[in-house]
Amino acid sequence: MPDDMSRPLIRDDGGAAGGEGRGGGSRRLEASLSDPTDPLVGILGTGDFSRSLAQRLLAAGYQVVVGSRTPKRFVALFPEEVEVMSQMEVVSQADLVFVAVYPEHHSTLAPLKAALARKTLVDVSNGLRLSRDGPSNAELLADMFPESCVVKAFNTVSAWTLQTGPRDGSRQIFLCGDSLQAKSSVAQLCRRLGFVPVDVGLLSSALDVENLPLHLFPCWRAPLLCTLLLFAFFYAYNFARDVLQPYVKHGKNVFHKMPIETVNVTLPSAALVLLSLVYLPGLCAAALQLCRGTKYRRFPGWLDRWLQRRKQLGLCSFLCAALHAVYSLVLPMRKSAHNKLLAMALKQASGAAESYSEGEVWRMELYLSVGIMALGLLSLLAVTSLPSVANAVNWREFSFIQEGRRIWLLQLQEQIKRKKKAF
Ligand code: NAP
Repeated sequence: MPDDMSRPLIRDDGGAAGGEGRGGGSRRLEASLSDPTDPLVGILGTGDFSRSLAQRLLAAGYQVVVGSRTPKRFVALFPEEVEVMSQMEVVSQADLVFVAVYPEHHSTLAPLKAALARKTLVDVSNGLRLSRDGPSNAELLADMFPESCVVKAFNTVSAWTLQTGPRDGSRQIFLCGDSLQAKSSVAQLCRRLGFVPVDVGLLSSALDVENLPLHLFPCWRAPLLCTLLLFAFFYAYNFARDVLQPYVKHGKNVFHKMPIETVNVTLPSAALVLLSLVYLPGLCAAALQLCRGTKYRRFPGWLDRWLQRRKQLGLCSFLCAALHAVYSLVLPMRKSAHNKLLAMALKQASGAAESYSEGEVWRMELYLSVGIMALGLLSLLAVTSLPSVANAVNWREFSFIQEGRRIWLLQLQEQIKRKKKAF
């Protein structure tokens, strides 16, 4: 590692002046830390990824050489500190080489085999579609270059993230490879660029790393389907009870209830069942362990998957509860509510109805209060599921919140039932 303290913070004007025409001011600012004594990193390919990576490496104080099939064509796209040369020149100079070339073109790199022997090759490629069976791009690259040390890394980071620099949300870089030394030099480079390297093991894990950016909400499918099915079931039930039955039995047309009122009574039912689905698998798991008399046996697959989806089920429950709150707020704004209110006022004025019903008033007050508290507690569940919040509490605090909230919610449900019966 060069002596960072001996490097001047501002380079002399002679070096800076030449770049103004090509690189532009902001690019020069980032690149101005490069020094001939900095470690040398090579990149094969001159595409989007290569350009962003070169800028980030320069900003972190590396010397960068880029290999292209047509160096002269792309030299203007890079900051002046980056040397764009032939692929062979790059691999003969650098010990660590990024392969920023699509995997279908990896075979065109075959002539570089001898020059790449004993060097570290970083494969940044992604697959086009999710693949369950190998081999991965990185393993194929390792087969092509058996004398090089292939490390899979950086494929989960976009060219955009590299350009803007690591932010809180996208700081992790998953890497794997068979050579410990190669992996540790790539990990060191990651840290110097401001990322957090996460070693996921040998190169045989490369397929998982390549699949990472291609997953589409893998944990959400079952919870979302469950939410939709529950919603459809309760909606059909409420529709039959509140809309269809009055029409069939008494010829009363209340189909206007379908978009808001029926949805509103459906949402809390779905929310409560979803919430119970969050806690039920934990109880099933405990019961199963008691039956088996040991905790050292794997749960059946369905229970395992259910346990892993609890967070998503909880968030779906929260969504239904939050929507219920919004729908409830909207209820008095409807035309039908105004008409109903007017009819009640006329009825009261004609003396046909009691003007003030103590029971009704209490019922509504308690109903709203309990609903607001339930939503508050559910919001707490949603907030504690955020990684940043969950990391800030220890296990005892987390289980205290979870257990406390569960008991509270059960008590609230009981209260609602009792109040409904009482009035
Ligand atoms: P790109 O813009 O299309 O660049 C690919 C580069 O490959 C070309 O500029 C070309 O450079 C070089 N190349 C070498 N041999 C080639 C051949 N036979 N045919 C065509 N091109 C050849 O692609 P990219 O977006 O930079 O992506 C490069 C790699 O990074 C891919 O494997 C991709 O999966 C991975 N990646 C990209 C991103 C991203 O955000 N873009 C993120 C993660 C991973 P020369 O013409 O100068 O040789």
